[in-house]
Amino acid sequence: MTGSLLVDNIGELVTNVAGEGEGGPLGIRHHAAVLVEAGRVAWIGPTRYAPAADRRIDAEGAAVLPGFVDSHAHLVFAGDRAAEFAARMSGQPYTGGGIRTTVGATRAASDDELRATVRRLRVEAMRQGTTTIEIKSGYGLTVADEARSLRIATEFTDETTFLGAHVVPAEYADRPDDYVGMVCGPMLAAAAPYARWIDVFCERGAFDVDHARAILACGQAVGLGVRLHANQLGPGPGVQLGVELGAASVDHCTHLTDADIEALASTATEDGGTATVATLLPGAEFSTRSPYPDARRLLDAGVTVALATDCNPGSSYTSSMPFCIALAVCEMRMTPAEAVWAATAGGAAALRRDDLGRLRPGAPADLMILDAPSHLHLAYRPGVPLIRQVLHNGVPQCRP
Ligand SMILES: [Zn+2]
Repeated sequence: MTGSLLVDNIGELVTNVAGEGEGGPLGIRHHAAVLVEAGRVAWIGPTRYAPAADRRIDAEGAAVLPGFVDSHAHLVFAGDRAAEFAARMSGQPYTGGGIRTTVGATRAASDDELRATVRRLRVEAMRQGTTTIEIKSGYGLTVADEARSLRIATEFTDETTFLGAHVVPAEYADRPDDYVGMVCGPMLAAAAPYARWIDVFCERGAFDVDHARAILACGQAVGLGVRLHANQLGPGPGVQLGVELGAASVDHCTHLTDADIEALASTATEDGGTATVATLLPGAEFSTRSPYPDARRLLDAGVTVALATDCNPGSSYTSSMPFCIALAVCEMRMTPAEAVWAATAGGAAALRRDDLGRLRPGAPADLMILDAPSHLHLAYRPGVPLIRQVLHNGVPQCRP
């Protein structure tokens, strides 16, 4: 979109630039304005000093935040698992086995059907403030179906992740070594051109640590960054494997030992965070009635924490980052400021994107205007549609 755009009369501007204004890491400015030019933030300052612009959005005293960065989502699938959800809510435990149900539906779907689902969920997430979303494959589990899942994902995001090692598909149930060989060979070769990351579901009933290490190393060898699903259903070696391989993020972190926390803390960097981020996905615990991860323990050890939705049709069918913020605050003892940071700058760190999650000159103009005077309302008013307007690369998105 050409021309400049001024968002002014911002009551509370969260920049996530530490040392800027108040609020510690949130870098809060009051009575602020943001000038957007060519899709990027061109200027930030007090409304009364704001330069003229071609167009103007009056924030009317509301809060403005960086767009959410949802660093963990599984959007390429067909069908749903509402019946499985109902059974779980009637007392059956979650085992991850239902993934194979979605694999069958996904393989049977056309490209256009898969594309329509991704588009619907991408719009749904945008309306709730998500300007960047990571999208994984992992419901195809054949060479052709993983490659097409990622090809479709690239139409919606730059942050695509090859998750051929989601589960061992039924046709390989008796020969998991053969499946791992296929993932590392022809499947990776077909998927890598469309992927930035590689991921493994390292868990009992999915992939053990040796298989996970082999698969992630193959991905690294062709230039993919590492992230993994770790320590969701019970204690395990996933988090320490992630640290060993220099993963950008270990995701779930529901069951951690002291050694896991120490391993994450050992990746500390000069900027005060950790190179390996712990991404917490409270929508999954909520939707499976499982105990929440201990966010406080991670934060107190200096580990960088991100929040993401894990949007998928089985264990967490929500695209709502505000909902995850509310869970993190009310169920996981994160402060509202920690949760908002984790859902924005934290997600950017989990994707190793220095350009995202902060509002400062030169950054993409990805931001949201709330129907509320403060970021506190995201947790304080759970379930309420508080996102009034979203700008993505400076372009106003459809209103809710
Ligand atoms: Zn996941």
